[in-house]
Amino acid sequence: MIPLLMLLPFFLIAAPTQIRYDQYPVYKGKDLGLHYTAPFSTFRIWSPTAAAARINLYHHANDISPYQTIPLQKSAGGTWHVRLNGDNKGIWYNFQVSIDGHWSHAVPDPYAKAVGANGQKALIFDLKATDPPGWAQDKSPSFSKNHRLTDAIIYELHIRDASIHPSSGIRNKGKFLGLAEEDTKSPEDLPTGLAHLKDLGVTHIHLLPFFDYNSVDEGRPDLPQYNWGYDPLNYNAPEGSYSTDPSNGIARIKELKQMIAAFHRNGLRVIMDVVYNHTGVTEASNFNQLAPGYYYRQQQNGAFSNATGCGNETASERPMMRKFMLESVMYWCREYHLDGFRFDLMGVHDITTMNDIADALRTIKPDILLYGEGWTAGECPLPDSLRALKKNVRKLHNIAVFGDDFRDGIKGSVFDIHDKGFASGKAEATESVRFGIAAACPHPQIAYDKVNYSKAPFAWSPDEVITYCECHDNNTLWDKLALSCPDASEETRKQMHKLALAILLTSQGIPFLHAGTEFGRTKHGVENSYNTGDSINALDWHRMSQYQDITTYVKDLIRLRKQHPAFRMYTGSQIAQNIRFDSQAPAGAIAYTLDGAAMQDSWKKIWVAFNGSDMEKNLSLPPGTWNTALSMDGSKGSHTKNTILPPHAAVILYLK
Ligand code: CA
Repeated sequence: MIPLLMLLPFFLIAAPTQIRYDQYPVYKGKDLGLHYTAPFSTFRIWSPTAAAARINLYHHANDISPYQTIPLQKSAGGTWHVRLNGDNKGIWYNFQVSIDGHWSHAVPDPYAKAVGANGQKALIFDLKATDPPGWAQDKSPSFSKNHRLTDAIIYELHIRDASIHPSSGIRNKGKFLGLAEEDTKSPEDLPTGLAHLKDLGVTHIHLLPFFDYNSVDEGRPDLPQYNWGYDPLNYNAPEGSYSTDPSNGIARIKELKQMIAAFHRNGLRVIMDVVYNHTGVTEASNFNQLAPGYYYRQQQNGAFSNATGCGNETASERPMMRKFMLESVMYWCREYHLDGFRFDLMGVHDITTMNDIADALRTIKPDILLYGEGWTAGECPLPDSLRALKKNVRKLHNIAVFGDDFRDGIKGSVFDIHDKGFASGKAEATESVRFGIAAACPHPQIAYDKVNYSKAPFAWSPDEVITYCECHDNNTLWDKLALSCPDASEETRKQMHKLALAILLTSQGIPFLHAGTEFGRTKHGVENSYNTGDSINALDWHRMSQYQDITTYVKDLIRLRKQHPAFRMYTGSQIAQNIRFDSQAPAGAIAYTLDGAAMQDSWKKIWVAFNGSDMEKNLSLPPGTWNTALSMDGSKGSHTKNTILPPHAAVILYLK
């Protein structure tokens, strides 16, 4: 028998205390956070392990010391509650809880909807008073007669990038209000900002994070500061640096609503990029101060796990985190009239939470557009089978995932700057592109073993797939082509660029464009520009006149897609039945016929062909006299039997 004393150190190392978060009480009520009325305001926070809790009240957001501190009363389901009598509008507040004999940092509650500069205090305010004139009449424009998600065309934009360049002609540079300005022009007299987006013809504007994020010092608008915003601080409040007055808790809310109303008035829907997978800070976050550890996943040894690569990952499978995410997206959707959500690193979240979110949002807005990144940025302790990964998209309630097979098939791998794709002459990428044309759905002519990543169709239906070839991450398409084809002339790379966008906008699925691709956006070879400032990130509107032929071509492709339902199939069986690839197409080329008649298209058949190689290709046509719908050089005319495609070119023909 071994003396107990000798065992003790072993126990301490091998069996660290596992906190049983699943035994924490759960609060089911809907009144977490502030509830303001003129006669009184109530507050409720969830802090199940606290021995005491208090609210600090301040006259001004930057006051160091509170003028009053009031204890909260212990209440149901691990919550603490207090009621303040009288009209307390304009008072600032935050909370502290006492756990294990120590008072926490003073933090706003995670549910705070209005915050001051840098989000350290929340504001007692009347939400109704944040509506700009006409907000009650604001309506999301229609984007699809039949409420089909594949009728959407998404454009991914950063709020500051849109207007900050001197060439934008926009007054409120870098602000929400900059995107509410109508009829703005570049020095070359071309439409910029909102006017350009309307002119382009896209249906949805996906905006990079505009909840309150951590990295930009809102108190120093004079400093050159920049961030994409993937570092959440206060999930339910808008970012202050996009408002004209970050210290005014109301201004950022009102101005964001003004921007959304302007988009809606101009026929554009708005998608919010949300980042519930991690918080910008870990130990000091408002989640972690009020309920230490609970909102995050842990490794076996108790340390924060890190599937996001950002120092922590949230635990959506725990009831109070699930409830938080659900109530947060519902709030944004209802209060800000948003039309969609893009979930950053969605593969971190569990499937049940994502499906609860989708079901709840569709009760508010049946044609809401939901999609996310079906992957993580590191190891995750929750099993793959439970998470919203790309390979599990069929288990999700109509939440689409990004198709990386297609992205890298078109232009080359994002993980190897020298790798080429189909559009830049890599014939081996052909099958990955055909896979993307069929929106990752089952198709009898695709050899799945030759697809770059997925060795099987991952979707059942094209509205489960975001079809894209670039986004804010990695090099822009323009830069990728320059880096991977150093010997190609700019004229040739322009052809490749147009070809890539032609492949994208004629493919099945939900197409997604990166802002500025329509005028060859460059970040000057910077691969990860999340904090590299305006000189790298700003949209340079001068390029619109320099590359007007690209803009015109993209507009033509968008118009064609919107006019022809054959490009917007909405079931997997339509894709299997109504797309016929030409199995005799020469290496480096792809040709396929769409059955227009079967899709109630005004064209009986549509023939689409791409030549990704640097050699001319002779392609046979199916029987009939084919008319040109769109060619890259603008040539028109009819074809029988065959057509010659120049290098790096696309052509779309049709039979009446
Ligand atoms: Ca902020």
